[in-house]
Amino acid sequence: MMSTTSIAIFGAAGRMGRRLVALTLEDAALSLAGAVDRKDSDVFGQDAGVLAGLPACDIKIAAELSQKVDAIIDFTSAAGTRQALKMAVATGSGLVIGSTGLTDDDHALIDEAAKSIPVLQAPNMSLGVNLLFALAAQVAKRLGDDYDIEIVETHHRFKKDAPSGTALGIAQAICDATGKSMKTDLVHGREGDETTRTRGSIGMHALRSGDVVGKHMVTYGTHGEELTIGHNASTRDVFARGALKAAQWLKNKPAGRYQMKDVLGL
Ligand code: NAD
Repeated sequence: MMSTTSIAIFGAAGRMGRRLVALTLEDAALSLAGAVDRKDSDVFGQDAGVLAGLPACDIKIAAELSQKVDAIIDFTSAAGTRQALKMAVATGSGLVIGSTGLTDDDHALIDEAAKSIPVLQAPNMSLGVNLLFALAAQVAKRLGDDYDIEIVETHHRFKKDAPSGTALGIAQAICDATGKSMKTDLVHGREGDETTRTRGSIGMHALRSGDVVGKHMVTYGTHGEELTIGHNASTRDVFARGALKAAQWLKNKPAGRYQMKDVLGL
């Protein structure tokens, strides 16, 4: 019989966390071993299954995880990720990080933790988006600086960080492929009397609208033509399923830092 992958959800009371709990409980290949959120959360102590819209599962929303699991899945915030890293190292568990808004310092902490546990971090867990990263980079490299690159993302009105981790992921893929710099070549929004485009810069724009799950568009414009590639997620389950797939893939992997493209073999 195939052994199940034990999962603890960090951020279990959140929008993503509840779907992760539900999809874990519904999948016979997975077992829910923990559901963690803030101690001051309104739903602290409640049954995670009930909170996710399913029958009770006897796992309560807790503030800590005491035992080792195959993978902790973190969908919280940058501050939450720092806590998840400590929890994963302390318990010797693998860690899948979906939280966005991470700083360079957070990435350094991930690198440090990855010396002792397997860690997979991805700003977007969908297959389509991970293909978009590769395509956007390839197109940018082929077309060169005669084509102006603009990245436009749209998300629901509740999203806290901007631009989205995915938009930054697209920009990073383009920078890696073209030798551009995330620090000096990105232009975030435009306002004022002198905003003429600098050749080779990458425009970044964040729209916040209603209940949009996640839409990303990259345009490459020059005299006489514009090429657009994009991705639209219509349900957040696409990210949750990707994170669960990543957790299963991470099981028994050696310590190290992994990406979604490793899971997908891209
Ligand atoms: P949400 O606000 O609905 O849920 C976040 C949950 O995390 C809340 O229950 C909150 O109490 C908890 N939390 C936050 N900080 C915490 C901390 N320090 N300790 C313990 N619990 C903490 O948000 P959401 O829409 O579920 O998104 C969560 C994160 O996942 C965001 O960063 C979002 O951008 C990211 N996200 C990533 C992907 C992806 O594919 N990588 C997809 C969707 C969302």
